[in-house]
Amino acid sequence: MSAITDHLQTVRTRVCRAAQQAHRDPSSVNLLAVSKTQPVSAILEAAEAGQLAFGENYEQEAVRKIMEIRQNRPDLKLEWHFIGPIQSNKTRAIAEHFDWVHSVDRERIARRLSDQRPEDMPPLNICLQVNISGEDSKSGVRPEELADLVKAVSGMPRLKLRGLMAIPEPQSDPEKQRQPFSAMKTLFEELKHTGYDLDTLSMGMSDDMEAAIQEGATTVRIGTAIFGQRHYPGKR
Ligand SMILES: *Cc1c(COP(=O)(O)O)cnc(C)c1O
Repeated sequence: MSAITDHLQTVRTRVCRAAQQAHRDPSSVNLLAVSKTQPVSAILEAAEAGQLAFGENYEQEAVRKIMEIRQNRPDLKLEWHFIGPIQSNKTRAIAEHFDWVHSVDRERIARRLSDQRPEDMPPLNICLQVNISGEDSKSGVRPEELADLVKAVSGMPRLKLRGLMAIPEPQSDPEKQRQPFSAMKTLFEELKHTGYDLDTLSMGMSDDMEAAIQEGATTVRIGTAIFGQRHYPGKR
């Protein structure tokens, strides 16, 4: 068995255990394999092992890999999620090549993605990134400004708002680790209560997936635990 197949199995087991411990159905947690900086061969190995959803952070690298795989393996139906910071000059390529974007944090970027989504593709699935730890350096909409952004994005014709995403500040103490995830869950539930039809809470990475699942993550984004160390230093 290849290392990636092996790691993937270990991660699936972790997801499953964490879900069971939280009295949740393991199938309510989706695994997104974060393949940034990893070669196409690594993605294909994961795909052979049944992993079909992949997350990428860098538009140029991602589009190159997506096109290569579509060309050489038209039989593979992979789902591509953009999870990195978005500059406005990258929105067209993202709108044309991805199925999901998790990192929308401004109305202007959302508007461009909606305008640029090709007519012959289904609406682009969107999660709004929330700066839940309140870090100055982090991307994400501030929780106080989330309601306005939700309202704006949910009215955009070529987008489908699916939920929220966060990258909380890393914590070594497991109890502290749960706080921002719990705060995200509260925001998510409040929006649903207001009447928005949301189904995706994207949170949890290799080091904190258990805490995220405990607090209600529906998608965990896992890179190093599946693929090993990244091939060049990636931004978080
Ligand atoms: C790189 C990255 C991940 C995966 O991180 P790991 O610690 O390698 O699991 C998840 N989400 C985002 C937004 C990332 O940039």
